[in-house]
Amino acid sequence: MKKILGIDVGGTKIVYAMINENGNFLTTPEKTSTPKNIEELISLFKNIITKHENDIDITAFATAGAVNIENTRVDSSTPNLPTGYNSIDFSTLSKKPVFVENDANAAAWAEFKVGAAIGENNTITITLGTGVGGGFIVDGKLLRGKSGRAGEVGSMKIQGRGRVCTCNRKDCFESYSSGTGLKKTAEELALTSKYFKESIYKDKTPKNITTYDIINGLKNNDEYSKAVFETWKNDLVVGLINITNIFDPESIIISGGMGEFINTEEMENKINSEIVVSPVKIKLAKAGNYSGMIGAALLASEKY
Ligand SMILES: [Zn+2]
Repeated sequence: MKKILGIDVGGTKIVYAMINENGNFLTTPEKTSTPKNIEELISLFKNIITKHENDIDITAFATAGAVNIENTRVDSSTPNLPTGYNSIDFSTLSKKPVFVENDANAAAWAEFKVGAAIGENNTITITLGTGVGGGFIVDGKLLRGKSGRAGEVGSMKIQGRGRVCTCNRKDCFESYSSGTGLKKTAEELALTSKYFKESIYKDKTPKNITTYDIINGLKNNDEYSKAVFETWKNDLVVGLINITNIFDPESIIISGGMGEFINTEEMENKINSEIVVSPVKIKLAKAGNYSGMIGAALLASEKY
């Protein structure tokens, strides 16, 4: 039985644990905050690996950012991680094999192998958080593309309302369908919706209405909050219809913080009424908070 050291690298924290090739934890996940400079980050990686190196066969990283086709480096810009992160050759961090995968791709693999999409050879996991990430399993394989960057669904362009994304392009899917997108929609509707002047937030500056406010407003039956959430869901459905028509998946798995507010059955009906392929199932993720780390470990154990 192979033992893998899984390391999940996020902008604020790094989590690691030993995992076996079935995706089960052999040690309790440990957490530490992400260093702000690159030297500290590299020495943290080396310390974690050295501590476990004698007991493991492979180290598997799940990380933000697009990973190269060789699974050794991060290619794209990763604003939440220290400058120089892209220059790390992960394969040099250990005497044993090191594998790196994009966290959304890894999470999709975990859902496919041990989560909500077991046995479904065509399944897509969409992570709705600060941004929108995607991992595509096509015919039982992780879709990686020519450069390893396939599945950047957050940057898919939709017919939007001219919204400027954090990447400075207009109308990226994630500028609407992320948690941040919900906040933007709230600002937009505060200026245009007839419900705003009767809303519990009518005295707030539109720019200062938060994602949390809208979720809270839903619980309090606030019509404006309901309109905001409805618009957010409709934008999300547009993206999911496109994805479904192109990939003909058995399921789309919704992962990330926004998932819990979605009625999957309602969303499934909306999508299935507008597609030309056979119906898709919409489900919530099951592989849990550590799905990136588990998926990276499982992918690594297939490669080495
Ligand atoms: Zn963008």
